[in-house]
Amino acid sequence: MSFFPSAAWLKELDEKHQLFTERLEDPLAFEGGQFHFSAKDNLCARDFQARAGSLILKGYRPPFDATPIKRLRENGGLLLGKTNMDEYGFGSFSTNSAYGIPRNPFDIERCCGGSSGGAAATASLIRDHVALGVSTGGSISCPSSFCGVVGLTPTYGRVSRWGLIDYGNSLDKVGLISRTVRDIEQYLPVIAGPDHRDPTSQVQPPLDLRGEVRTVGVPEEARTGLSPEVAGAFEEALRDLQRSGIVVREVRMPSLRFAISTYYILATSEASTNLARYCGMRFGAMNENFDQGFNDFFSDTRSRDFGTEAKRRILLGTFSRMVGFRNKYYVKALQVRKQIIRDYQKVMEDCDVVLTPTMPFVAPRFDEIERMKPLEMYQADYLTCPPNLTGMPHLSIPCGYAHGMPIGMQAVAPHWQEGTLLSFARSWEGSFHYRFPEVAE
Ligand code: GLN
Repeated sequence: MSFFPSAAWLKELDEKHQLFTERLEDPLAFEGGQFHFSAKDNLCARDFQARAGSLILKGYRPPFDATPIKRLRENGGLLLGKTNMDEYGFGSFSTNSAYGIPRNPFDIERCCGGSSGGAAATASLIRDHVALGVSTGGSISCPSSFCGVVGLTPTYGRVSRWGLIDYGNSLDKVGLISRTVRDIEQYLPVIAGPDHRDPTSQVQPPLDLRGEVRTVGVPEEARTGLSPEVAGAFEEALRDLQRSGIVVREVRMPSLRFAISTYYILATSEASTNLARYCGMRFGAMNENFDQGFNDFFSDTRSRDFGTEAKRRILLGTFSRMVGFRNKYYVKALQVRKQIIRDYQKVMEDCDVVLTPTMPFVAPRFDEIERMKPLEMYQADYLTCPPNLTGMPHLSIPCGYAHGMPIGMQAVAPHWQEGTLLSFARSWEGSFHYRFPEVAE
């Protein structure tokens, strides 16, 4: 029988770690739930507000379930609540949320990663829990690595995006985060599959959970810029893999150097069009001040209710798409994206997966984050952005610990080969012991 949190226990945990934007008072009051799960706040669900961490969506109660939520509920899942996140997914530390900042399960002075920070922390703190996360440019891998859990980002199109509040439509993927690969294996088949309501969900090869990893490719470009702790843990993990009979091959992927700029041009371009629908008239916070021109009317709401990072991204994305600049930035970024895909495909001719650390450092402290400039924050994603640009499935698993904080590594497999990643994680878990935060139950 799986563990179900009681009202008092969950309340205490949530107050300490700021996990949820909204949640059930007492999960034990609901009979019939066979397992519990949570959903990132940008996935719509009946009975809860969906605000994507943003003030502008305050009060928005969707009258429907996003497809992955619907499928989990139909299969006996009890939705515990909506997890905290960076506004619309804009960030890597979950510090850009309008509803409190989630705190790391291993050290509350440190962040959870982002943007699915609440999801990864919930999966780390609550036994037998599975969290729905969303990744546009690393938002499943990054927090999974910082919170010491397993995070799977499926192939783009594998899981329906219907009911997901868009960030960047050509990049957004719904995935799963949990303590071990077992839960992911169990629930991926439930949420995967085509959905006629989402035109980007694809007719897809059947999900095969088997697979084998004999050779891993480690790009030279991913071994620079790492903190000593992460470099040490990753090299140790490579030695463990070699001892278990896996061939580690050094490879070169020159285009990885351009992934950050490519991602931030494409993602902000798409975001800047998506955010145009929030204007104080349709969803969430309403602007009742009709006694003004429409420019002022829209500016009013947006100036007040979008956070600083959302505004920065609207400016950046609008600029990259503007006539006169579009070819230089947006179109160029699309071309580089293709080159990055080709680089992965080339390496995958000889290797089953591409393996790198997930993040270049362990979860930073909040005072360190305060001192970081936006570009330094973006730069932290240089290992998680590349696979997201390709639409290839990837998985972050814990591979070491330093000063009590977890370190993750990220494996990327060819399109539709989630099974390869799951079997890689299964065999890794057979010999490497994960640590979880101590929470009295
Ligand atoms: N950190 C990246 C960003 O801010 C990725 C976030 C995401 O995947 N939603 O865009």
